[in-house]
Amino acid sequence: PRLDPATLVADLNPQQREAVVHSGSPLLIVAGAGSGKTRVLTHRIAYLLATGRSRPGEILAITFTNKAAAEMRERVEDLIGPSASRMWVSTFHSACVRILRREHAALGLRSSFSIYDAADSQRLMTLVCRQLDLDPKRYPPKTFSRKVSDLKNELIDPEEYARSVSESNSFDKALAQAYAQYNERLRQAHALDFDDLIMTTVNLLQAFPAVAEHYRRRFRHVLVDEYQDTNHAQYMLVRELAGVDRDGNGEDDRDGLPPAELTVVGDSDQSIYAFRGATIRNILEFEEDYPDARTILLEQNYRSTQNILTAANAVIARNPGRRPKNLWTDSGAGPLIVGYVADSEHEEARFIAEEIDRLGDDDGTRPGDVAVFYRTNAQSRALEEVLVRTGIPYKVVGGTRFYERKEIKDAIAYLRAVANPDDAVNLRRILNVPKRGLGDKAEAMLAAHAERERVSFGQAVADAAAEPGATRDGAPVPEVIGLASRSRTQVRAFHELMSGLREMNDAGATPAEVLDAALDRSGYLAELRASEDPQDATRVENLAELHAVAAEFSEQDPEGDLGDFLERVALVADSDQIPDAHAQDQGQVTLMTVHTAKGLEFPVVFVTGLEDGTFPHQRSLTEEDELSEERRLAYVALTRARERLYLSRAAVRTAWGMPQQLPASRFLQDIPEELVDWRRAESSMEALRARPGGWGGGYGSHGGFGGREGYGARTPGGSGARSGPVRTGKLGATTSTGAKFGSATPRPEADVPGLDVGDKVTHDSYGVGTVIALEGSGSSAVAKIDFGGGQTKRLLLRYSPVTKL
Ligand code: ATP
Ligand code: MG
Repeated sequence: PRLDPATLVADLNPQQREAVVHSGSPLLIVAGAGSGKTRVLTHRIAYLLATGRSRPGEILAITFTNKAAAEMRERVEDLIGPSASRMWVSTFHSACVRILRREHAALGLRSSFSIYDAADSQRLMTLVCRQLDLDPKRYPPKTFSRKVSDLKNELIDPEEYARSVSESNSFDKALAQAYAQYNERLRQAHALDFDDLIMTTVNLLQAFPAVAEHYRRRFRHVLVDEYQDTNHAQYMLVRELAGVDRDGNGEDDRDGLPPAELTVVGDSDQSIYAFRGATIRNILEFEEDYPDARTILLEQNYRSTQNILTAANAVIARNPGRRPKNLWTDSGAGPLIVGYVADSEHEEARFIAEEIDRLGDDDGTRPGDVAVFYRTNAQSRALEEVLVRTGIPYKVVGGTRFYERKEIKDAIAYLRAVANPDDAVNLRRILNVPKRGLGDKAEAMLAAHAERERVSFGQAVADAAAEPGATRDGAPVPEVIGLASRSRTQVRAFHELMSGLREMNDAGATPAEVLDAALDRSGYLAELRASEDPQDATRVENLAELHAVAAEFSEQDPEGDLGDFLERVALVADSDQIPDAHAQDQGQVTLMTVHTAKGLEFPVVFVTGLEDGTFPHQRSLTEEDELSEERRLAYVALTRARERLYLSRAAVRTAWGMPQQLPASRFLQDIPEELVDWRRAESSMEALRARPGGWGGGYGSHGGFGGREGYGARTPGGSGARSGPVRTGKLGATTSTGAKFGSATPRPEADVPGLDVGDKVTHDSYGVGTVIALEGSGSSAVAKIDFGGGQTKRLLLRYSPVTKL
């Protein structure tokens, strides 16, 4: 049954309602944090469907993360039912992949094209620079990678860039050359990098009017969240999909089709990914392309208490050249913001853990209600160490992401090379992994052969593996010059391995089965299992986790092939690891960078490392534009909090092994004194010393108060000495990795325990648990085990130290 449209707008304020029901012209909603922008988008979609103004298939909604997309789809489904599944709700990247997979033929791309992530493309750039003989000191591949990304975001292709470069500028000339080569290599490999996904789609829509028309007829409503962070390429993509009608005659200026209804929402104060000028440019372009656009402002904040809002407003107010906003809330002042000055980052972490515990006792706050933010990923380690020790369940979003770990990248490289034989980067990555005597020299010979014969690297491998006298395309297979005969044997074995895996894949094996075969037959797993290094045991567990991910994929999508699986993997963004509502019930503190926190909200928020040099970041201290961006980042951080906000800093922080004394963040100085309850660092240090062996939580007292003064005078040496023994003596010995996997030993294959749901088991590192689900059988049996305390693990039994009790 269709939902009554009136009910849909009943719980909205007048401005929000106006935005939801608006029709007839493009709509721009600009408003501060927590004013209901995302909620308006969701309700607008539901309203369009409920009133019959639109069918689900005509809607394209763009969000910033896959997580946000899933949430939005879910909410619309809650509002109007399952027909919502025909909508496209996705990130820019996912939408482009979807379009490109359908239209690949027009571009001469194979439908199973690879997607290179940032690390892949940097690797490729390094190869290109080496081939061009560029001195890595003068022409760092990393810088080149970033510049190429910038160019692609500006939709400037290699030819256009080369034309714009001045003859006398050797850096730009080298860059132009590398850009051209890099793109050529991508093309040969049937691969696209992340920025290509957008740029190629824009090119596609511009070059093929029939394709553009197809999508323009299909999407009658285009809605974009977090508009302030779109770049030029994304802007153009929206323009191509929605059409433009500058003269307002109801027809697109170029092809006469009626333009789609475009709704964009954003907050220029939350622009945190913009390179210089991007925000202003997008808004200006929008106003130029859509002169009849309606602009709606939202002013009531529904998320935070007045104290939190006042503090956030005070910080952002100091940015020059912004339009002042009048954000208010009727939710009351709420508790004071808590400030804390710690001696060190470790002590800061202890304070946070202690406070989370105390809030649990006093207010019933669950760990899942709490988020801890930091400016850079490296700051998470000190926090993790303390949380592990105190047994507070937590989850790190981002950081060394699962998919960035070496063993995971190796395994994925195998899968990618199976799915796409021309994928040179991934093939080269695994050529000698595990070591099979095919070192740099052999790789260079194969690469030279590919170059000489104008074939892909994969073909070079096949050529080297060919029997003497074999033919290719009617001609004798050209010899791979300079390849030692021992290497030849090894290449042959490698080629057979890959061919076998491809046959398996073609015969319909699941991604999990291909993965298992790759790890087994290559000897990769055997090598890890034979190792004495405890880290290798962790790697085995991580691979088991990847197996579980693949198995789950096939369960959800039995038709999905290896290409689909790899696509899913490539598009997992940082924030996709955020626990969903269900997991939050189990309660895990979320640790994340401020960047990944965009759009989210939590009852309790800790913003850490508020020191000049940490947050704002060192780099920004001398650059006004960058400082403005840091300030927006601080505004994002503060406005995530609903009820309680904690601001902390460490008087001394150790970065890259060097203790550094850092002054208070200038952002702290901007917050009115009376909003903050400053607590002293010493009291908790005292409590800690009084209880040898660490603390099990439950310290209630934070006696006294302190001012901002009085903490600045510590010498790095003195403080370092104080926190030193704690760090290295106790905490250092049990990093989270050590505690979880240190004692894991690989088991012989024959001993896989036969388990049933409900069985009690013990794991060498996680302790006692209960089997709650089983999947697969034999060597690929996976058990889902609940170890209590919100800790549920999926373990590949063959590799996990699990014993039935
Ligand atoms: P951000 O700028 O951080 O992305 P936003 O403007 O998108 O924030 P939302 O996340 O949509 O804001 O809304 C913030 C909170 O306020 C949410 O919990 C939302 O459900 C709530 N909210 C918004 N509008 C209303 C309303 N009219 N009545 C009740 N709650 C509301
Ligand atoms: Mg939002």
